[in-house]
Amino acid sequence: MLKDKKLFLLDIDGTVCMGQQLISGTREFLKDVKESGGQFVFITNNATRSIDDYILSFQKLGVMTSHANFVTASYATVMYLKKNYPGKLIYVMGTKSFVRELKKNKIRVTTDCMDEDIACVLVSYDNQLTYEKIQDTCEVLSTRQVDYLATNPDYVCPIEFGYVPDCGAICQMLEHAVKRKPLYIGKPEPAMIEYALKLNHFSREETLVVGDRLYTDILSGHRAGVDTALVLTGEATREEAETCGYPPTYIFSSIESLHREWK
Ligand SMILES: [Mg+2]
Repeated sequence: MLKDKKLFLLDIDGTVCMGQQLISGTREFLKDVKESGGQFVFITNNATRSIDDYILSFQKLGVMTSHANFVTASYATVMYLKKNYPGKLIYVMGTKSFVRELKKNKIRVTTDCMDEDIACVLVSYDNQLTYEKIQDTCEVLSTRQVDYLATNPDYVCPIEFGYVPDCGAICQMLEHAVKRKPLYIGKPEPAMIEYALKLNHFSREETLVVGDRLYTDILSGHRAGVDTALVLTGEATREEAETCGYPPTYIFSSIESLHREWK
């Protein structure tokens, strides 16, 4: 039952935010969740921004958050690298702030394709991408025995005027050249949902995954065995949701109407 939900795992872009703007009704919804003894955690595939960045930008929008309110694809990637590549050297194609966050978390990182002992290539959304970086990454993937990871499979990232290519599209470009596909860490893999459940004391039944995309948000909830709500303020349409192989448990026009129905 929707009324019994206490832990809300929310996508950010297209669900609660559009570019730098808060989607109408978000502030009131989050306030009510907290006041009713529930919790909200933003689960985002966007790996360009650190959690500190997010806390600051939500604060500017009048929403108070702390580290407990976020599980990002970069956080899930750090957990994955720590578990699977302890002490190993990771070659990263991503933003400077992403590299910084990995280093802060004691991951051995290089952006030099000439480094000898690279164990794994990691690709992320990169709005500082250059052709030189693309070529270097292709060289490592083509000439070395390395694993290949990427933070998130999203093809596009919504911004004010429409969309720009995201990590999944960058990996598709590389795939044409190197004939390899990465293992993606972010949604629809259920890893971020599992971390959020572990960090909060609510049951799977009390949890709702909320997002605007079927092939990432809704599929991740489906894989984790958690109810899902699609909001129509982003990518997916009602028609796509109704004919999808893993239809969302609920469909709402926006976070505002989810709030109304839940209350
Ligand atoms: Mg989204």
